[in-house]
Amino acid sequence: MSLPTLAVWKFASCDGCQLTLLDCEDELLALAGRVRIASFTEASSEVLPGPYDVSLVEGSITTPADERRIREVREQSRVLVTIGACATSGGIQALRNFGDVAEFAASVYASPEFISTLGTSTPISAHVPVDFELRGCPIDRHQLLETLGAFLAGRKPDLPDTSVCTECKRRGLTCVTVADGTPCLGPVTHAGCGALCPAHNRGCFGCFGPMAKPNTAALLPILRTCGMDEAAVGRVFATFNAAAPDFAAVSRERRS
Ligand code: SF4
Ligand code: SF4
Repeated sequence: MSLPTLAVWKFASCDGCQLTLLDCEDELLALAGRVRIASFTEASSEVLPGPYDVSLVEGSITTPADERRIREVREQSRVLVTIGACATSGGIQALRNFGDVAEFAASVYASPEFISTLGTSTPISAHVPVDFELRGCPIDRHQLLETLGAFLAGRKPDLPDTSVCTECKRRGLTCVTVADGTPCLGPVTHAGCGALCPAHNRGCFGCFGPMAKPNTAALLPILRTCGMDEAAVGRVFATFNAAAPDFAAVSRERRS
């Protein structure tokens, strides 16, 4: 019996989410017995021809070549899963969406005329249909394994769609905002990290992006009570998921 094929693709990204897959170690060995890894250039230069049963896509679309290549990847993939903040919201490189990319290129490169880039960094879902999105910067390895296992078993991944606060409470952590007045984006951020930062006495930085229907308006007065001025509020929403619409709306208001 032939094994289902898995392919991993990189667009504009730092490779951190692909490293999460490599970091699965023991589970990766078990996975290797259930799938044929057909393309994963982070681990091997061998690339087998498609079509592929499951494609994991890391990174955002930032060049005309990316726009063409993601359509080819989609055509070759039965299931396409985007992994990480870059692929699901445009990533930190989407800060370019709020400025002039030609001006940035001129200030960074000695010969900007050789740079072929788009004026925006956009998520994969803005270009092709996506079957499932895994959030985070980087993604969580347990969520990745659940997602791969689910698609290989022909079922939907069983992952939470709530906020980081729910994970925080399930772990019995003390709220850093209530206890210490530390600003925290947990109430509006998508669950998945297991409340990693609050577990280390730090506020959530929102690296999993906005949860479904986040009530950012209710959080803003709390952030101000914690000592954040308007500029700081704008900055905290303009990081890993700067172009995610619910976070971009908050930072844009404070930029204008
Ligand atoms: S989401 Fe974060 S860790 Fe993953 S590729 Fe993008 S920058 Fe790297
Ligand atoms: S520490 Fe942050 S994530 Fe945890 S309950 Fe408080 S606001 Fe929510």
